[in-house]
Amino acid sequence: MIKVIPHRGMRQIGGVCTEVATDEARILFDFGSPLEDEGDQNPLSIEGITKGEVDCDAIFLTHYHGDHVGEIPSIKAGIPVYMQKTARKLLLAQQQHMQCHGQEVWADSARDLEYGVPVIIKDLKITPIESDHSAIDSLMFLIEGHGKRILITGDYRMHGYHAERMEKTFREMGHIDLMITEGTNLTNDYKGIYKNEKDVENRFQELKQKYKYVFLFTSSSNIDRISAFSRQVPYGQYVITDDYQKRILEIADEERAYEYKSHKVLYYSDYLKDKMENCGFGMVVRTGDKFYQIVKKYFDEYPDDTILIYSMWSGYRTLPGVKKILDIAKNQETIHVSGHITKEDLEKVLNIIRPDKLIIHHTSVKYDEERALTIPDDTVLLPIEDSVIVEL
Ligand SMILES: [Zn+2]
Ligand SMILES: [Zn+2]
Repeated sequence: MIKVIPHRGMRQIGGVCTEVATDEARILFDFGSPLEDEGDQNPLSIEGITKGEVDCDAIFLTHYHGDHVGEIPSIKAGIPVYMQKTARKLLLAQQQHMQCHGQEVWADSARDLEYGVPVIIKDLKITPIESDHSAIDSLMFLIEGHGKRILITGDYRMHGYHAERMEKTFREMGHIDLMITEGTNLTNDYKGIYKNEKDVENRFQELKQKYKYVFLFTSSSNIDRISAFSRQVPYGQYVITDDYQKRILEIADEERAYEYKSHKVLYYSDYLKDKMENCGFGMVVRTGDKFYQIVKKYFDEYPDDTILIYSMWSGYRTLPGVKKILDIAKNQETIHVSGHITKEDLEKVLNIIRPDKLIIHHTSVKYDEERALTIPDDTVLLPIEDSVIVEL
């Protein structure tokens, strides 16, 4: 028998953590932090994992976003943590960068996963599957044992650059006894202008042709987005960012297909100042005084030639550091698509996989609202709350 226990995330987006256990093995999937002001804010406190004697064979992480990895520092020493190998390097670079702000560095001791190469832990086989999300090298996990097959999707979408591959993966998945999917967008009926990442990239191109100085304001870890932006900066102009962002893009490009790689990226320095001003540029910026001063200069001196593209979830607009930069960007446009699956696409995916049982987590909707989703007749949507045990 296999037991599944959602420790957290059934009624909140951030901080998911799901246990899959047999009489022999005990494995956890994701160990994240709650989003600010959303849901249960208490740190995970689990016997054998954060307290007492160690009783856990492994923790597998779907991707490097904080709502999936944020509470790893509170696990007991000796529990192996597994991540996709490039995602692990990216997270390590991020942790080292934030170390001076108290960030614990642990990704150096995590173990690497390769796409499609299963890890056998006692009586369970865990296969990491390449996914598509606003964090590159995200994983889904297929867990097999005792004649059962469980799919944990992690965060995913069907409107990124890899939509076709995703659909193929689902069509070739085979029978699934239990599917645990994210449901972030079940409430947000996100009706943005842009349908997919390709539309976003096309709009970057239009704006870069129109404006000499273009700033992209986005998360440093939204690498597919930043690379797309860099590809739309014409030759003869510069793609600029800071040394941290440059390092992140270099790690990401080490094993990426050529068509998704970034164009040559430089980091900002006084040496480049005049060339940037004369030739034009696309610059990737974040919060912080360094970027603020540069954005301010161009809006002050070249208001007609400058635009700032806001390319993040709209909820971050009111964060103080973000607001500070947006307030001085006199000319701005929002260009964004969600990293999460839409309700319509989730219905399509469910229709392809037709799992026997379904759990929706990483969502703020209640079970009654989940039932508004159109699911296949032979799929049972389980009314699970945090810590309720499901037996397969
Ligand atoms: Zn995520
Ligand atoms: Zn998430």
